[in-house]
Amino acid sequence: MVAKHQGRSGRPWARIKAQWKATTRICYLCGTWIPEDVPPNDPLEYTVDHIDARSRGGPPTMENTAPAHRRCNSRKGTKPLSELELLKTSRAW
Ligand SMILES: [Zn+2]
Repeated sequence: MVAKHQGRSGRPWARIKAQWKATTRICYLCGTWIPEDVPPNDPLEYTVDHIDARSRGGPPTMENTAPAHRRCNSRKGTKPLSELELLKTSRAW
């Protein structure tokens, strides 16, 4: 189920994730706190999501990614991108 994410586990992706963890622990999808001590693959695990899947060919950047709970990240698939963009840009931070 998570196998498709394994390709992201190295190099630039890990750096982006570390950068996000240092920036905020608020999930961009549900707007609530992402707890720190959760086991791997827990629904509340801290994950970093590609906002625009269409640009997946490019390098991961802070602009094109955002932190999310694992459960929110996997639920997102059905939502329209425009809605997600709105959520992100309405952030006060
Ligand atoms: Zn969430």
